[in-house]
Amino acid sequence: MHDDLTPAKKISPQLLTWFDRHGRRNLPWQKERTPYRVWISEIMLQQTQVATVIPYFERFITRFPTVTDLANAELDDVLPLWTGLGYYARARNLHRAAQAISGHHNGQFPTQFDAVCALPGIGRSTAGAILALSMGQHHAILDGNVKRVLTRMNTIEGWPGYSATEQQLWRLAEHYTPTDRVADYTQAIMDLGATLCTRRAPRCEQCPLRRACSAYKLGKQREFPMPKPKKNVPLRSTAMLMLRNSENQILMVKRPPSGIWGGLWSFPEVGDGESIGDWCQRNFFCTLRTQHVWPTVRHTFSHFQLDITPIHAEIEENDAVMAANDAAWYNLSATAQLGLAAPVKRLLKALQNNINN
Ligand code: SF4
Repeated sequence: MHDDLTPAKKISPQLLTWFDRHGRRNLPWQKERTPYRVWISEIMLQQTQVATVIPYFERFITRFPTVTDLANAELDDVLPLWTGLGYYARARNLHRAAQAISGHHNGQFPTQFDAVCALPGIGRSTAGAILALSMGQHHAILDGNVKRVLTRMNTIEGWPGYSATEQQLWRLAEHYTPTDRVADYTQAIMDLGATLCTRRAPRCEQCPLRRACSAYKLGKQREFPMPKPKKNVPLRSTAMLMLRNSENQILMVKRPPSGIWGGLWSFPEVGDGESIGDWCQRNFFCTLRTQHVWPTVRHTFSHFQLDITPIHAEIEENDAVMAANDAAWYNLSATAQLGLAAPVKRLLKALQNNINN
């Protein structure tokens, strides 16, 4: 990994030679490269493949050939041309940006980097791409394809979504961007990421950058870019008491209406470290005849995991446990009619097997 930029060689000569032979040149937005057309294509290409974008781009440009046409349209006329592309915020932002250009720039797409960045839906990389591709201005870009190429070439560790990693990638992107043929270089590095340095199966043998690529030399292409780290999900624990009386009925309790499994039926839960016998005496005035702790089962919620320790206990034959509004004794077969949380349902089934065997 390069901590400073001195060791990183220039890559533009190899990339441009490759581009002259293999680059894409006949895409509809490459024919008349105005900032407006490049802008529309760049927004459509976010999250969407080139082949899908082509007919959408052509319909859009035919309907709205200029910024002013787009600004003057109703949003209801714009959105149908986006149907099927998804991420509709992109279309709404295009429309708002066209109105801003109409209102503040006399209908002329701005050519100053800061003014382009100030438009709705346009970030640093898209602004750089628009101005580099349409005007040959010297700006770096850092879209998903470029991030992949740069992280692999320089074995940049850290998920690219981290601000420190992203800053490092921006420094590299700026370092590599040449002053000559900026438009071709910009198209070339995007093409390389889209066609050779692909996410799942990079075709390094055909890549003009392989001699400069650290990941290729180390055989670690698939380890970069590093994935988004999984969040550490908190782990909670509880003990569920499967209390059985002499008639083979199980005590079920209804959970409060809000919170996890709100309103569903479950087993009574015993607090950490509390004696099961004492707990039964205190809550239900009953004495336990037997108790068996079963292996813990883990249940995963979206925001935490719950380790459940099931305890199967039988009460003394003559103890009559009173059931209140939110608690009731059920024959095992009758529990099938109750609203049950998934792990409770599984435990009841295991209990039934246990009793039958
Ligand atoms: S050598 Fe392979 S991993 Fe490296 S930039 Fe080229 S395609 Fe990507």
